[in-house]
Amino acid sequence: MAKKTWGNGLRPKSKDAPPPAPLPKEHEELCNHCGKCCYKKLIIGKRTYITPFPCDYLDTETNLCTIYETRREVYPECLSIEVGLTQSAFPEDCPYVPVMAPPGYKPAHEDYDWSADWQDFDAFADEMEADAATRAKLRARGPTAPPMHVEAYAKILADPTTLAELMKAGKKQ
Ligand code: SF4
Ligand code: SF4
Repeated sequence: MAKKTWGNGLRPKSKDAPPPAPLPKEHEELCNHCGKCCYKKLIIGKRTYITPFPCDYLDTETNLCTIYETRREVYPECLSIEVGLTQSAFPEDCPYVPVMAPPGYKPAHEDYDWSADWQDFDAFADEMEADAATRAKLRARGPTAPPMHVEAYAKILADPTTLAELMKAGKKQ
């Protein structure tokens, strides 16, 4: 089955394009910190899937970005909301989708069975350009474990105060 690697989203067409203007505050507040858009994507057939591999800059315990303020310079593959919504970077249940997605937007899917890819895990991890720590963590978890963002989001829902404190301390999403 042909697969094409994406970064956390696709690199914008021109790396020299100016960064998009900041979102209005009411839009920024739509994010619920589910973390799904910060996991790498694969196009399989005609669908885009969210893989178990996180962006190197994601804190997988909190679903917060560790370089939020400088992400555009440090990691150009990190897409703005506007660009990501042209490239299936966000899942259907992301709150930005009903508000900002263009007509016909095709969301990223979460229902792929990765078991076959675990049979040659190193090749899969190479394709996803995973670092050693992420590789070890995911290999140990196995293909049927829930994605790490699910566990982090459950913690956020159980203890929203900690999330608020982390964001006050400079971590964001
Ligand atoms: S998918 Fe949407 S709600 Fe989830 S972290 Fe990304 S922007 Fe926030
Ligand atoms: S917001 Fe941060 S963690 Fe998410 S894709 Fe961009 S750089 Fe990576």
